[in-house]
Amino acid sequence: MKEIEKLLKNKEKTQKNQKKSSFLMKISSLIDKLLFPDDIKCIFCGRDIPTFYDKPYCNECEKSLPFNNTNRCLICDMPIESEAKICDFCQNNKRFFKKAYSPFIYDGVVRQSILSYKFNNNRYLAKGFAIIIAKYIKNLKIDFITFVPMTKKKFKERSFNQSERLAEEIGKILNVKVIKTLNKIKDTGEQKVLNYKERSKNLKDAFAVMNKDLIKGKSVLLVDDVITTCATVNTCAEYLSKYSTVFVTAIARNFPTDKN
Ligand SMILES: [Zn+2]
Ligand SMILES: [Zn+2]
Repeated sequence: MKEIEKLLKNKEKTQKNQKKSSFLMKISSLIDKLLFPDDIKCIFCGRDIPTFYDKPYCNECEKSLPFNNTNRCLICDMPIESEAKICDFCQNNKRFFKKAYSPFIYDGVVRQSILSYKFNNNRYLAKGFAIIIAKYIKNLKIDFITFVPMTKKKFKERSFNQSERLAEEIGKILNVKVIKTLNKIKDTGEQKVLNYKERSKNLKDAFAVMNKDLIKGKSVLLVDDVITTCATVNTCAEYLSKYSTVFVTAIARNFPTDKN
């Protein structure tokens, strides 16, 4: 009997210690947050940096970041190997937006960071991406910022819309109001496996426009996380362009795997 009592007492003691240590851990992580706020860390590698709001990444990462700064399409911002001004894609497909802006190519640490942002709901990364985007589009005049919507089902699964959060952070920096202009009313499933034509077809009738009167005659910046074929942003822009002039921005430009 005494043995059992002893065992029970020991168990109680361990549980108390565990509670104590988890409490201490919480306190220490709170102190860490106060002493080392996220805003002083590189959004790609986590190293401490001196000036997050000027440049949210470290000098080491900067050397190898895939900036989208070569010759690129004047409409969709896709890099072009030749001296051409407009890419084949934009020459062969009607674009409903005036111009797209993507400061990065979807590759390396940028890709990793975007994936981490999308699946871990990291507001701090959104803030960093927004700083970079705001600089990239600095001379653009816009009245409203909006974002590519998600279906209610997808929103429940992920608990946040990565494009909406990014739009909010860009809005804070540029001091421009963020409004919801599109509702996604059809579940379009996984777009990754489809080419441009299939994507566009899949997205047909997927959206409904909101706040029509508000955006009438205005310039609207549509925010997405990554642009690949432009099918999503172009379909959204098709709806919005009936009322507004549409510009598009995304963190990164991915290369479409086919030219269809
Ligand atoms: Zn870094
Ligand atoms: Zn183009």
